[in-house]
Amino acid sequence: MMQDTYKHKGLRQQMVDGLRQQGITDEAVLRAMNEVPRHWFLDSALDTAAYDDRALPIGCDQTISHPSTVAMQSQLLAVQPKMKVLEIGTGSGYQTAVLCRMGARVFTIERQKGLFDRTTKLLRDCGFRAQCFLGDGYQGLSGQYDRIIVTCGAPDVPAALMAQLKVGGIMVIPLGEGEQEMLRITKDGEAKEDWRVEKFGTYSFVPMLDGRQMR
Ligand code: SAH
Repeated sequence: MMQDTYKHKGLRQQMVDGLRQQGITDEAVLRAMNEVPRHWFLDSALDTAAYDDRALPIGCDQTISHPSTVAMQSQLLAVQPKMKVLEIGTGSGYQTAVLCRMGARVFTIERQKGLFDRTTKLLRDCGFRAQCFLGDGYQGLSGQYDRIIVTCGAPDVPAALMAQLKVGGIMVIPLGEGEQEMLRITKDGEAKEDWRVEKFGTYSFVPMLDGRQMR
């Protein structure tokens, strides 16, 4: 049974206060992050560290993103309830859960079977209704999405993902090898000239790996 004690709630409130101080202003993001118990997505040994602004190990050589990174990406995504959101890199499922809590219909892809199996079950057990897929996020998923969020460092903007983004949609993607620059791409039209790119600082993500390296 998943516990959420007063101690966890207090630590979470402090985490959210810290996010406000760092300039996160989207109340829907702050509310969702105050409500989703981040420690559920980590090993019980990391129970209290869960609320520090740190990336932490989640097994399979992967990490859960910093709370401040999750907040930033979620804010840039400008999610409204009922929107179809495609996430690349399910990992721990924490970002997925935050988007679910914001009312999005979330489709999420993970390439590592170990993480996919564990996180699919965890999200279901915790009552988050995301649709989880095992596969290569480079190819995305059939369908058209209002929002696309990539949570691993991408060497380029995958063409398949741009094709799956609706006109008027937004993609948030950390671009680069080693370090990444956070990009928000707004698809104002089908033509490439109508894709508006804005930059939001430097981050460090685990790499996005393509299907040829699939395990
Ligand atoms: N949103 C996650 C971030 C986990 S780290 C969280 O908050 O926990 C990024 C994840 O992307 C890793 O689990 C990694 O296995 C996955 N990943 C890397 N390349 C991928 C690809 N091509 N398709 C799908 N997932 C990928």
